[in-house]
Amino acid sequence: MSGAEIRLENVTKRYPNTKAPAVDEFTMTIPAGKIVVFVGPSGCGKTTTMRMINRMVEPTSGVITIGGEDALGLDADQLRRGIGYAIQQAGLFPHFTVAQNIAVVPGLLKWDRKRIDDRVDEMMDLVGLDPKLYRDRLPRQLSGGQQQRVGVARALAADPPVLLMDEPFGAVDPITRGNLQDELLRLQAELGKTIVFVTHDFDEAVKLGDKIAVLGDRSSIQQYDTPDAILANPANDTVAGFVGAGASLKQLTLMRVRDVEYGTADDVLTVGLGDTPSSVASQLQQSGRTYALVVDDRRRPQRWVHVRELGGRSSLADTGKPVGDSVSTQSTLQDALEAILTEGGRAVVTGAKGEVVGTIDITTVTDVIASLRSEHGVEDGAS
Ligand code: ADP
Repeated sequence: MSGAEIRLENVTKRYPNTKAPAVDEFTMTIPAGKIVVFVGPSGCGKTTTMRMINRMVEPTSGVITIGGEDALGLDADQLRRGIGYAIQQAGLFPHFTVAQNIAVVPGLLKWDRKRIDDRVDEMMDLVGLDPKLYRDRLPRQLSGGQQQRVGVARALAADPPVLLMDEPFGAVDPITRGNLQDELLRLQAELGKTIVFVTHDFDEAVKLGDKIAVLGDRSSIQQYDTPDAILANPANDTVAGFVGAGASLKQLTLMRVRDVEYGTADDVLTVGLGDTPSSVASQLQQSGRTYALVVDDRRRPQRWVHVRELGGRSSLADTGKPVGDSVSTQSTLQDALEAILTEGGRAVVTGAKGEVVGTIDITTVTDVIASLRSEHGVEDGAS
């Protein structure tokens, strides 16, 4: 772990000439190496709270420590160089090349030329931009998603233990946004930074957060817990409003196929592509089943055949229908649900080499939803 714990104690921010404080006596511990997401309505104080951590906003009162060190006692510029910062629309310097943008903080830290050059290449590789192609481009010569990647690379360049991200993916289309989120999670698995992430999108918070802080007026903490716990048990109506409809369905994004009891490979009749249709028909009849799953010589799923489709056929290769969507044991239950619905009630589960390890059907998923709801005392029709 390279992250540092952040503690805020009774931190208050009063902007000049305003009646109410923007942030009022905020106390929170942000664990080292975790992603904590601040989510809440516009104007509730998320950004102000986050910016006090690197003192882009100076607190009016309170204590902030980073890795046990008093952040308010340090020189503010020095503090800021040790904290990565990424914002919406990347905030790149328009007249600097990609390489120059990434090199800003290492330059301020007076790294030598060679070390900076190597670091720029390393960071570009890390965020999936080929240095040979993109090093010397200007920000406007990049797509929105690429600019956002450069923004993340720049924030990480000096290897800070803490990364602050203020709606960093807010300005890109939903598909690019999903990809950037996936990449951030992949990066974080490798880097283990302490990341504070601000968004107003609860689904983004569920996807990225190790913990979510749902904030209300003046940055008051409505609930601070794991996504799982918040979805299962919203602390009050404000949180429930944020969680929105379909909390059980959202929980399906937190569970994986390997976590549930899907049907093992023995539950379906699997047959080889080279088997004869008549032998498959008799195996189905003997076992009292209606469907067989046809697999290739490496046990990868090929086709579903129904017992009634086998009469008069000479080969399984063109009998029944091809397997469409399948899921792996790593897939989320939400992805599994989609595959099950596309496949008409049951989807194939594959292992690491794409081989059949079982199938998952709609009842498995509905049982999970029912048990989540009863476990947490949610009654049908309750708001
Ligand atoms: P959020 O990030 O949740 O949208 P902000 O932290 O940006 O909320 O703002 C919290 C409150 O502080 C808002 O009422 C906003 O108008 C006020 N505020 C933010 N920045 C300033 C400023 N520089 N001067 C005065 N008031 C500000």
